[in-house]
Amino acid sequence: MLSVKIKPGRCFTGRLAKGDDLLQALEKICQDQNITLGEVRALGAVTRARVGFYNQEERKYYFLDFDQPLEILALVGNISLKDGKPMVHAHVTLGDHAGRAFGGHLAEGAPVFACEYVIYEHLAEQELHRQLDQETGLMLWPKS
Ligand code: ZN
Repeated sequence: MLSVKIKPGRCFTGRLAKGDDLLQALEKICQDQNITLGEVRALGAVTRARVGFYNQEERKYYFLDFDQPLEILALVGNISLKDGKPMVHAHVTLGDHAGRAFGGHLAEGAPVFACEYVIYEHLAEQELHRQLDQETGLMLWPKS
């Protein structure tokens, strides 16, 4: 088990531009501000979306494309380092015109219609670098 003590750092809030790719835009803010550890929340709407589902047996992501306007009901994510650069790992719940909710692991390919975000920086004595986890096949934080 890994447990890292964190303290609050800087906090940023704002809106993304219409047409921005949701994941890329959040990641760009983290990279521009050099946020190496933290969390992100957002809500708003996208014009379409692409989310991943990890098949645990096959150890492979399958991607779902939703080619319709959707509400971002909730986006929660964390920020850590992958290949030495800030990376956003986010999951998103999306809502359609009938109020149905679905979602998954946010992938590139979700253009923003409108989006308000908040990013919390965490300060820690230890950096969290993603690395390949043999047990799951995923790029995860270290075990300890
Ligand atoms: Zn994920």
